[in-house]
Amino acid sequence: MLLKSYRLEVVNNHCMPSAMTVNCIARLDQDVGGAIPYLNAVLGGDQFTPDPPTVTFQTEGKLISVQERMITVNAVQDEAQGRKIIAWIQREINDAWENRANIDPSYTKAERPQLVEILKRLPKTNCKKCKAPTCMVFATWVVQGVKDETDCPELDDAGKKALHDYLARFTADG
Ligand code: SF4
Repeated sequence: MLLKSYRLEVVNNHCMPSAMTVNCIARLDQDVGGAIPYLNAVLGGDQFTPDPPTVTFQTEGKLISVQERMITVNAVQDEAQGRKIIAWIQREINDAWENRANIDPSYTKAERPQLVEILKRLPKTNCKKCKAPTCMVFATWVVQGVKDETDCPELDDAGKKALHDYLARFTADG
């Protein structure tokens, strides 16, 4: 087993009190850098940096980042949920490492819309009319493909078109 143990820190999201979420940081006792390109190949990272190796995943409104000695998970409901997600990532890291002989390591990011690019095209008022606590969370839903420009009522026609045109680059007929 590559990743055997870690120390968990839980940080309150003071900058976003209305969201009532916490961020979790796992300080790893073992270096998992060698496993990151294999993890990226298996799970399809949204961002990948080769040096130092870092992979980031966006799922269900959360950002999960894996570095050599650290795993971070943002915007979780509470410590219990953070622990569950980190335990899952630990299993994925160890599985990817143990099966590395059968996996082609990936050193590139997935061809998916980028969170920052989507956020740039949103009004950034955090008005919650879309049922997301913030525009950032809404942007993660768009990355996952469960929402699109039609789900933000604050976008005017030009804004809707700008976001639609950006997302169309990632579709088969875009
Ligand atoms: S409706 Fe639009 S502007 Fe309002 S929070 Fe959602 S994404 Fe942001």
